[in-house]
Amino acid sequence: MNFRTLSAQPLVEQMRNNLIERVNLLKSKGLTPRMGIVLVGDNPASLTYIKNKRKACELVGAQFELHQWNDQIGPEEFLANLEALKNNPDIHGIIIQLPVPEQLKHLDLTNLVSPEKDIDGFHGMNTQLLFKGCRELENLLPCTPKGIVRLLQHYNIAVEGKEVLVIGRSLIVGKPLSMLLSNYNATVTIAHSKTKDLIRYTKNADIVISAVGKVNLLTAKHFSPERKTTVIDVGINTLNGKLVGDVNFAEVSPLVANISPVPGGVGPMTVISLIENLVIACEKKIKG
Ligand code: NAD
Repeated sequence: MNFRTLSAQPLVEQMRNNLIERVNLLKSKGLTPRMGIVLVGDNPASLTYIKNKRKACELVGAQFELHQWNDQIGPEEFLANLEALKNNPDIHGIIIQLPVPEQLKHLDLTNLVSPEKDIDGFHGMNTQLLFKGCRELENLLPCTPKGIVRLLQHYNIAVEGKEVLVIGRSLIVGKPLSMLLSNYNATVTIAHSKTKDLIRYTKNADIVISAVGKVNLLTAKHFSPERKTTVIDVGINTLNGKLVGDVNFAEVSPLVANISPVPGGVGPMTVISLIENLVIACEKKIKG
């Protein structure tokens, strides 16, 4: 089958141009969107993610500041420092970069950032929007689900009435994504580590979205060409020093209609959605 690669690049460029215009408009009103990232310690993977976020901010003319705190910081000092950031009117979006060290893990991290500065979209008040049926992407919704919906829309892949399988049920991807797609009238099934006979589900879905973090989770045996499936690969794994997803692209691509690549698919959509959330948070300040 001739498959289509759902590359994020054209859409990211389009969204970036739109965001540049919105940032310029904000600047003309005296506001420059500014992202504040809290990093405790110096986890190398976190530093790479942060570098990408900084670059993405700069590309649209937004500002960025890193607050890197000692990995021995106690909960009280951490909360006091965070309070100062929350109260800083010049910072419009705050991210607590995960993972945090052991002594901070008991904190309710997703709810510590005020909802209006929660550009990750993890705060209970923002995720609640999804439970209420929200499908407006101009809200502070979690970035990966938002990016996936935009990617599907860009490639004119309808979800209404479609059978969508979401593999993974995490708070940052699987759960909010399932809810968002159901708000778009998809019939959503959630699979997870205890799901038996995953093939039964993958073979019967119109759209399969894998957010697990396991190399070769999905291979040729999971798909039938007659189903003309769309596959969205969220997974980020390394194999022999290369970045790969959950899906064996070489095996699966000839059997499906559409497939997102890793790298170059969901990853860039997540980053641009984060920048979009920063701009939305800043715009909301003007709208009140
Ligand atoms: P997580 O570890 O919190 O959740 C993984 C989920 O996979 C769990 O719900 C678990 O039940 C399920 N699972 C585990 N083994 C399974 C199996 N054999 N069959 C079916 N389900 C199984 O992970 P997460 O934070 O949701 O991230 C998932 C993957 O997506 C990771 O590789 C992560 O790096 C990646 N990710 C990518 C982006 C992006 O922008 N591309 C964003 C977030 C996460």
